[in-house]
Amino acid sequence: ESFCLRLPKVELHAHLNGSLSEDTLRVLCMENPDLSSDEKINALISSFHLKNRSLEECFKKFDIAHAVTINPAAVKKATKDVISDFAADGVAYLEIRTTPRSVPGVMSKREYIQAVVDTIKDVPSFIGPNKFIVVKLLLSVNRRESPAEAEENIREAIVANAAHPDIVVGVDLSGNPKCGNVVQDILPLFTQARISGLKIALHCAEIPNEYEVEEMLKYNADRLGHGTCVHPSHGGTERLWKLFLDSKTPLEVCLTSNVKCKTVESYENHHLQHLLQLQHPFAISTDDKGVFSTTLSKEFELAAKTFNLSALELCHCIEMAIHASFASTDEKKQLMSELSAFKTKEG
Ligand code: 5GP
Repeated sequence: ESFCLRLPKVELHAHLNGSLSEDTLRVLCMENPDLSSDEKINALISSFHLKNRSLEECFKKFDIAHAVTINPAAVKKATKDVISDFAADGVAYLEIRTTPRSVPGVMSKREYIQAVVDTIKDVPSFIGPNKFIVVKLLLSVNRRESPAEAEENIREAIVANAAHPDIVVGVDLSGNPKCGNVVQDILPLFTQARISGLKIALHCAEIPNEYEVEEMLKYNADRLGHGTCVHPSHGGTERLWKLFLDSKTPLEVCLTSNVKCKTVESYENHHLQHLLQLQHPFAISTDDKGVFSTTLSKEFELAAKTFNLSALELCHCIEMAIHASFASTDEKKQLMSELSAFKTKEG
């Protein structure tokens, strides 16, 4: 068993529908009369994995997962499998994010959320006594959707947080970065969520967009995702980069995702190099382990290999992620002590 697999890792950036494994997709297809032929299943699964393409191609992949998570039972199965996959990969703390989705006549957004929450509540029953994983939920707004949809998602997030404050802990902004007027239509809604006690994570600067990125950086989110085009050598500017560093906002870093979507040209060129050099907080994450054929252990291995990180430095990456997480103070303490116990055991 490799060191990165044994590490008690913390995953902060995982989209539910992008994280489905082949096995999960296969089972969900078989349960769906429209998709259950071998030919259809194989075609669907083989087109789910992204081979170095573009961000645009990446967004088409989610339609594939969305075609199978179309009722509460399928959403439960997807959630259960994704949590089990992360637990098997040695993840001790997991934040899943997902966009509430309604299917007319079958499932409302509230029922979608309930299916995910019920599964998270049920974690001890399917993870078993020898594994330990804490799971939280962030509800997403897809910036491609209308402001009315965004408003509904935020309203539902506030309701879900009131009912399950120890599970539903934050909101996320994601979706195709070319779409939507985020500054005008969406950030004011996120402020409502913030006032209600939810934490805020924003996908930021996946493509160059000086005005939007500046407004996001000034917004003081609790965490930012990707942050690809902030540094001047990656389509950002000195001003944006300084704003970002001064904000000290932790960045969710998704190496494989960025390289496979071609928003970063190579691992060596990834902006993680600057975060390491300047000691800006970050959390190594998978983004969509199904679409990108990765695991959190693989992401740690990649980071270690590319940037020559020692075992101790990898443990420090986890410490940063614990601090940046939306866990409670007690949960953070417990994760820190689990990590120190690991360090002692491994010498
Ligand atoms: P879901 O929210 O349906 O569980 O997960 C899939 C959704 O997550 C996609 O439809 C998209 O809105 C969002 N998503 C997944 N990966 C990325 C990414 O790399 N960038 C952005 N901006 N959004 C993503």
